[in-house]
Amino acid sequence: MGFVTIYFSLGSNLGIREKNIVTAISLMDKAFGCRCVTLSKFIETKPMGFTGGKFLNAVALYKVLMQEGAVEKGALDVLDKVKAIERSMGRTDEPEYDADSKRIYHSRIIDIDILFYGNERIDNERLTIPHKDIENRPFVMVPLKEIAEPSLMEAFPEYFE
Ligand code: ADP
Ligand code: MG
Repeated sequence: MGFVTIYFSLGSNLGIREKNIVTAISLMDKAFGCRCVTLSKFIETKPMGFTGGKFLNAVALYKVLMQEGAVEKGALDVLDKVKAIERSMGRTDEPEYDADSKRIYHSRIIDIDILFYGNERIDNERLTIPHKDIENRPFVMVPLKEIAEPSLMEAFPEYFE
């Protein structure tokens, strides 16, 4: 067993957004069996790629005790846990695509994405880590830069130039 440093992005643009993020964190604490190490400030951002209410966004850092070795399996377990939390909080929409296979985005009670999982790079059908395109998403990069540990910046300098 070893501790894996995991960065998550959280966003909500429906209901009481601040409460949704705080609830998600407490459910993540329970699911991972540890408290969130650092939670960024909450920032308000306009939806990107669709029209809808403004988001509150935050980034959370966890150090989760994981089985050593099976990296992809561990990361998929973490994804399953955050997806279950999204559903338990009432999120029902499945990802949708237009005729050109471009994602169609919707308002959401809660979105929890895995930004970084240790220093790993993962690319499979269900999971891309580091999370795709985050360098172009201020709603991720601003709170991430606020709480990123030096070890993350050393492992992924291209995100922190
Ligand atoms: P969004 O792209 O807005 O986060 P969803 O939350 O509906 O949309 O996620 C769509 C799919 O993205 C998930 O079912 C998951 O399999 C996939 N995915 C790929 N990489 C990641 C990641 N790093 N974190 C979270 N989900 C991811
Ligand atoms: Mg998501």
